[in-house]
Amino acid sequence: MLRISSAVASHPGLRREDNEDAYCAREDLGLYMVADGMGGHAAGEIASRLVVEAVEAFINETRDADVQRTWPFPYDPSISLDANRLKVALRLANRRLAAAMGENEALRGMATTAAVALFGRHTPVVAHVGDSRVYRWRGGRLTPLTEDHSWVGEQVRAGMLTDADARRHPWRNVVTRAIGGGGQPDVDVAALDLAPGDRLLLCTDGLSAVVPQDRIEALCGAAPPLQETCDALINAANEAGGPDNITVLMIQVDVA
Ligand code: CA
Repeated sequence: MLRISSAVASHPGLRREDNEDAYCAREDLGLYMVADGMGGHAAGEIASRLVVEAVEAFINETRDADVQRTWPFPYDPSISLDANRLKVALRLANRRLAAAMGENEALRGMATTAAVALFGRHTPVVAHVGDSRVYRWRGGRLTPLTEDHSWVGEQVRAGMLTDADARRHPWRNVVTRAIGGGGQPDVDVAALDLAPGDRLLLCTDGLSAVVPQDRIEALCGAAPPLQETCDALINAANEAGGPDNITVLMIQVDVA
């Protein structure tokens, strides 16, 4: 059995007044999530918060599900029950955004990313949409478990840009997938391979698009407590200019 502990920190950064990031760390549900909202006025803040709340609600409703229940979307037998729970949760969250935009003209165009880890009763899973990331830290090495759904991310994977180019590119904020109330969002889900001693880092691009990966790797390996690691990551993003909202959520995996 694995024992999970977590810490989280969120900061508006140095150039923005509002914080449009949202998160949850629900040890009772095994649910950990960060979301990076986009939209005019306060809409980005509403988008990320609504999506986090909708995911929490569905994961809570299905906490005892051990067989396929009546899903609002087709059950995908090729992935696990918990992977289905996350995929459906994010699709329901998308509907929730669509409904909110239908009721309030001022919210039109709002959207959010989502990066989620779920420790249910079986193999843990991660899911994401957009450019918020999940990394695994193991034995001093930091490995990204998600591929950014972003323009620069696609260019890096195609070998057209380096990570350093991507952090400076004027289009670095352009996401190619988001939860925005439109057609069914395409959610990436993957089973998590975890061992005692591993750490997971969930973060918004206020960290990953600002602080080089080797610096994040070094900070993630710093000795506990976990909260200090989160605070150090926020400081690193702010020392690099803090151009964007920053949210970091760290999970420590130990033997129960
Ligand atoms: Ca952001």
